[in-house]
Amino acid sequence: MSGHVAKPSGTFEVLKTDAHSSARLGRLWTAHGPVDTPVFMPVGTQGTVKSLEPRDLIENGVQIILGNTYHLLLRPGMDVVSGCGGLHRFMGWDGPILTDSGGFQVFSLSNLRKVRENGVEFRSHIDGSTFFLGPIEAMAVQRGLGSDIAMCFDECPPYPCDPQTACQAVDKTLSWAALCRREARAPGQLVFGIVQGGEYAPLRERCARELVAMGFDGYAVGGVSVGEPEPVLLREIEDGVRHLPVERPRYVMGLGDFGQMAASVANGVDMFDCVMPTRHARNGSAFTRHGSYPVKAGEYKLDTRPVEEGCDCYACRHFTRAYIRHLLNVGEILGVRLLTIHNVRRYVTFMAEMRAALAAGAFEEWRSEWAARVQETKSKRSGE
Ligand SMILES: [Zn+2]
Repeated sequence: MSGHVAKPSGTFEVLKTDAHSSARLGRLWTAHGPVDTPVFMPVGTQGTVKSLEPRDLIENGVQIILGNTYHLLLRPGMDVVSGCGGLHRFMGWDGPILTDSGGFQVFSLSNLRKVRENGVEFRSHIDGSTFFLGPIEAMAVQRGLGSDIAMCFDECPPYPCDPQTACQAVDKTLSWAALCRREARAPGQLVFGIVQGGEYAPLRERCARELVAMGFDGYAVGGVSVGEPEPVLLREIEDGVRHLPVERPRYVMGLGDFGQMAASVANGVDMFDCVMPTRHARNGSAFTRHGSYPVKAGEYKLDTRPVEEGCDCYACRHFTRAYIRHLLNVGEILGVRLLTIHNVRRYVTFMAEMRAALAAGAFEEWRSEWAARVQETKSKRSGE
């Protein structure tokens, strides 16, 4: 990142705020460099953004990736990752990394979990062996991974969830956050608190206010996009964000729908992550500025256009839909890889266009143009 004078890790600059919404253009400084916000973080669950090399990420303009504590703890294990010098060195990625705490996975993926006062005992989904993850353990793992941003260990209740269960999850999330806040960190490592509270605005408010009183480097809204209808999801985000300080970065966990991300940015959110671009590529789906489409479909058999016309990614500069469709249909690894390169580039470009619009004071115009184009394509397709 030439041209910038490096700033201390944790510095968050709000460079411009939108006149008509809470959207803002910002820059977050980490121990491994700056991140321009709003930003999308591709997910590298098992120490790789599936099928991509770090040089693909760099060429695609990716500034920060996400790593998963739960998966890396189970395999290869912390003895291996720490023994090999931490996650950056292990996977050959020198840019910023955010790690989740494993909370979401132990509550949603693992078998036979027992929630205790100081954490969760669970069985590995791989071999059934027993693990224990709580605030102390989650921070120790993230310290060993050496991520730039560590997340607090939280309780993520399912949807729907009654108010009493949601309230207990908030109590636990807050007492665990206080422990996470005090734990030792990797050099320059930032720690973000997570706002829980389900669909209940007063719970979201209490959780946000108490986390802010503890003082974190940034704040996330968690427990969203877990099966609730879109209006509920957007309200949960708004309810969480409105009580967070404007001078710290805000992150909505697990959100990857373009319209929902744009709506969240309008509410003042700066960071997102989701498996959508990589997972959909493995299913043969391409994201474009007009929406998504299945590249494997028969209509692209002889289509010599790139996956997305006007896209500057490596896949679109060199290959046709017909070729990528063929690779996907015969199960060639390259098909998935090329489509992943494109989809990740689409997400990076979406955020870059949003930042350009924010810089130009034209965020709302950009947002409505985007929505109109997607809507137009949808009705054109359904009309065919
Ligand atoms: Zn492309």
